[in-house]
Amino acid sequence: MNKYDIIIVGAGASGLYCANLLSKKYKIALIEKDNKIGKKILATGNGRCNLSNLNINSHFYNNNIDKYMKIHSINETLKVFEKLGLKTYSDNEGRIYPLSNSANSVLDILRLNIGNYVDIYLESTISNIYKEEQFIITLHSNEKLSTKYLIYACGGNSLQETQELHSSIKPFQKSLVSLQTDTNKYLNGVRVDNVCAKLNIDNKTYCEYGEILFKENAISGILIFNLSAYMARIGNYKQKIVIDFLPNFSEIELKKILEQRQKNNNKLTDSNLLTGIFHPALCRNLLEKANFDTKNCKKMAKIIKNYDIFTKNVLNNNQVYSGGIKLESLTNNLESTQTTNLFFMGECVDVDGLCGGYNLQWAWTSGYIVAKYLNEKSGL
Ligand SMILES: Cc1cc2nc3c(=O)[nH]c(=O)nc-3n(C[C@H](O)[C@H](O)[C@H](O)COP(=O)(O)OP(=O)(O)OC[C@H]3O[C@@H](n4cnc5c(N)ncnc54)[C@H](O)[C@@H]3O)c2cc1C
Repeated sequence: MNKYDIIIVGAGASGLYCANLLSKKYKIALIEKDNKIGKKILATGNGRCNLSNLNINSHFYNNNIDKYMKIHSINETLKVFEKLGLKTYSDNEGRIYPLSNSANSVLDILRLNIGNYVDIYLESTISNIYKEEQFIITLHSNEKLSTKYLIYACGGNSLQETQELHSSIKPFQKSLVSLQTDTNKYLNGVRVDNVCAKLNIDNKTYCEYGEILFKENAISGILIFNLSAYMARIGNYKQKIVIDFLPNFSEIELKKILEQRQKNNNKLTDSNLLTGIFHPALCRNLLEKANFDTKNCKKMAKIIKNYDIFTKNVLNNNQVYSGGIKLESLTNNLESTQTTNLFFMGECVDVDGLCGGYNLQWAWTSGYIVAKYLNEKSGL
């Protein structure tokens, strides 16, 4: 039996960050089901890794995480990365990226040092786990390990093996994901920027601005991902999204603009009233929605500014999962209140953020909190 002080299950963002911060005097192991550590980090931010955001605030999360961010937020994270050797920059929306613009740099920095003092079990998962004085773990390879402290950092939707040790879990739901719709006639592949999308859930209206990408039977783009987060949190993806294709004009202004166009240009026909304003495919779609009733500029303006899309479900391209270990079932140090010396961090905890670096910041913050607590704890 290999004996450890600390075992971390999952060598992703939070597990690797935590391992880097744990005192070197501990005997530490990482158990990773994949054949490489930190694979998901490479996919983040379209390969650039949007690792945090200057505007961190509980408003961007499903839960209030102010007390954790007070301990370790963006500034402390940047200091840790700086110390590890990572150079970063922020873009004009406050998103933080590695200076190299490569997610590889983030992963490289996180794995640079730990190889010397952390045992890494790749392609390994736990087949059995129970707790006596210590946690006794059997891997599917039949190897047996023991540890005083056990940390779960296995990401979303993968907590099956811990149910007996900690049962307070909110069901996982796909979040930051494309949404299935009815057919978006003519619009497959069309991107429309500078739109405003509104979603009403439980009498609360969520507005997102940005670019929407239409697919044959789905909608996508950062603003749709963000709206999907609100749906995931209530576990219901059947919703109505209202798109305003010209948010900088009021409906009355738009009606006047369309009337003026008709007055100024007698060559305008039913099929080209919107030409020059939108992508040709969107013009066609909008005109058809208005039954080519283009003399009625009021109706056309209304459609452009209140374009209903009914969502039916999600696709499988989710970036995160909403749900997980309930925060109220954990101590301030993210230790289980049901099993002592058991910790949870990262996405397997019921904290999910919108797009913009918020989810990785939670992985860093929670990884730090557990490492700090264990470093301060005596008696290993
Ligand atoms: C395509 C994509 C792009 C993203 N872009 C961004 C971005 O730019 N900014 C941002 O903030 N967030 C982004 N995210 C979200 C971000 O990657 C996650 O929030 C973050 O990685 C969560 O960290 P974690 O440590 O909790 O889990 P993960 O990083 O998912 O790590 C969990 C690890 O545990 C392993 N594992 C799972 N189950 C087991 C098991 N039973 N036993 C052993 N090992 C196990 C997994 O293989 C994995 O290596 C993106 C996600 C995706 C998919």
